[in-house]
Formats: sequence, structure tokens, C-alpha cells
Amino acid sequence: MELAHRMTALTGDGSDGWDVFYKARALKKQGHPIIELTIGEHDIHTHVDILAAMGRSARGGHTGYAAVPGTEGLRTAISRRIEQQSGVPTTQDNILITPGGQSALFAAHMAVLNPGDIALYCDPYYATYPGTIRGTGALDRAIRCDPAYDFQPQATDLEVAAQGARSLLVNSPNNPTGVVYDRATWKGIAQTCIAHDLWLISDEVYDTQVWHGAHISPRSLHGMQERTLVIGSMSKSHAMTGSRIGWICGPAVVIEHLTNFATHTTYGVPGFIQDAAQFALSQGQALEDEVAAPFRRRRRIALDLIAQQNLLRAVPCSGAMYLMLDIRATGLSGEAFAHALLDAHQIAVMPGESFGQAAAGHIRVAMTVADDRFINALTDLLSFAAEFDENKRRF
Ligand code: PMP
Repeated sequence: MELAHRMTALTGDGSDGWDVFYKARALKKQGHPIIELTIGEHDIHTHVDILAAMGRSARGGHTGYAAVPGTEGLRTAISRRIEQQSGVPTTQDNILITPGGQSALFAAHMAVLNPGDIALYCDPYYATYPGTIRGTGALDRAIRCDPAYDFQPQATDLEVAAQGARSLLVNSPNNPTGVVYDRATWKGIAQTCIAHDLWLISDEVYDTQVWHGAHISPRSLHGMQERTLVIGSMSKSHAMTGSRIGWICGPAVVIEHLTNFATHTTYGVPGFIQDAAQFALSQGQALEDEVAAPFRRRRRIALDLIAQQNLLRAVPCSGAMYLMLDIRATGLSGEAFAHALLDAHQIAVMPGESFGQAAAGHIRVAMTVADDRFINALTDLLSFAAEFDENKRRF
């Protein structure tokens, strides 16, 4: 029996650069002491007070079907937070609660794409982006972002790619690069969207992890409110990855249709999870800062270590829980470097090639292990890289 093309086309063909990740997982299972600097999972658990709120809600009876678009309390809390941060008037009618940011990404693309439409996204990209687009029956088209411009999409490239397209997916703070888009980049994005009548899907799941500069939500830019769908999540901001809770913020009429879509797909999100999320948000920025603090600290530690050598260059990592390192001076591909590092030092990092073509010759380091282990791993990684330093080898 043949499966639908929509399903079989979700993942691409051939090596996708995730081999090193699976190899590390297999070695770890066999008992090898692997240090995993691979995926974006905190080394802390969800705060006990959030868990207590979840338990209170469940024991209090909030275990039946919850309202499909989300509880009024949570939708209102999220709309207030967005209004405060972006200055854009926002109410609960602009918010749909989803089981995590990933399902929000899929639903948002379903809302704006017809089968065969062209949907844009930026390379390097978060691993699921092309499959998320293909799952809707649309055609995925990557915009290659150059490391010379710190992987920020350039207006001229956007302009070329936008011909005939219907949507553009962007992500700042960015996974995998850690780059936070600057005002000039946003201006180019907004201009392209308006000129080509594109929907903008703005993945802002790392909005609480900004180390340098400020997070700008493109929904706040002139002419963008009616064409932007913002993707949010409690996963990264509150270490609630396993609770699967996120949202879409957009025009009320789109949210109405998306609620209809949710009725036919997820049928909503558990009420006790929503109540826990509402409690978490009521703790304000203090809790968000607490969850983000280890990454802020480790980024500083990493930049100090990297400054002591000049072979590897750190891409300006202004946000998110990752460091992107340019390893081209070693003469190795990201994939070859990551495999060799795993074999030699039991340290697992992601090859840039896992995130598309633009980040070839780079590696992504997730800052997701305790400080002392992180320092040791990074020190080993840098001295491992130095073995490939052509200039030093000559002496
Ligand atoms: N977008 C980006 C850029 C991500 O890195 C992730 C998770 N790693 C997601 C969306 C999805 O997050 P979740 O479904 O856990 O909210």
C-alpha cells in the first residue's frame, strides 16, 4: 500500500547531518560518557511551583476537554504579555493556544498556504521547517543567508526569492545560529512582505533569551500586523518542553479559522497544562530570567574561552541557547569535525550541515550542560580544533 506523498516527503533524502546525533545517542546508551551539546533541552526541569500549579488544577477537576482555542485566562495573559512587549494592541481574540510551538508552526502554514504554493524560509534553519511546509502540500524554498552577514537575510536575496511566493518563515533569536535580527534586517523583511503580499510567520520561541540588543517582533512594524502570525511557546522560556504548550498570535479572523482547524486536529490543549502556563506567566520576567540565566552565563564563559584563540570564530550569538562556531579554518566540514570530535573526546555537537547548506563549515554547540562540564568540553573542543591549525603545524 502506498502512503500519501505529504507523509513520505516530510523528511528529505540522503544524509541530513543528523548521523552524529544518532551516533552519540547510541554510544550513550551503551554506557559511554558522552557530553551532549546537541539539542535544545535545558539541563533543569520545569520549576516546582509550576508543577504544583499543574497538580492543583488537575486535582481541582480541570481534566476534561478544555475550550478549543484555549482558556480565557491563558489567552488573556499571553495577549497582555505580547501587548506589553510589542506595543501592538492585542486581546485574547488574537491568540490560539496550541500543543507546543511546532504544532503552531504547522497550523500557521496550513492557514495561509494552498497546495502547490511557494513558502520561503531562511537557511540555516530549524530542522523541522522544510518538512512543516511540505506537510501542507506547499513547496519549500530556502533563502540562503551568508555567514559573511552573520546569517541575517539580506533585502536583495529576499526580493529575488519572493517572486511568486506566498509566505515567509523567519526565526529570531535564531536556532541554530544564535543571531538576533537587527532593525535593518527587519526593515528588509517587512518591505519584501508588503511589496510581494506575503504572509510572515515569525517564530519567536526564543524571545526571552536575548543576550545582546533587543528582540523586535515584526508584528509591531508598520503595515505588518495584518499579515503576521507570531509563533510562541513555553518550552524555552519556562523549561516546559514536555508540557507541549505554545500559541499563535495573529489577526482575529485568522485565529477564528485556526480554531476551526484545531477542532479538527488537536481539539485543544489539556486545561491543567494551560493553568500551569498561566501561573508561570503570572510570575513575570523574574522567572523567565531565572530560566535564561544559565545560557547567558555560559555564553559569556564561551566567548572568553574562544577569545583566547583565533582559529575558530564565534558567529555573533546574541540570543538563544546555542553557539555557532565557524570551523572552516580547520579545513574540515562541520560533519567531519563533529564526527572526529565525538570519536576523540566523546563530545557531541551538531554539524552546521544539519541545518541546511548555508552553515556548512560550522558547528552548533548547545549550551545545555552544567557550567563545569561545559567549560571542560569547550576547552577540549578548542584544543582539538588547534590540532588542525595549518599555521601551527609548520613549526
Ligand atoms: N522553533 C524553533 C526555532 C525551535 O528551536 C523549536 C524547538 N527546538 C521549536 C520551534 C518548537 O518548540 P516547541 O514545539 O517545543 O514549542
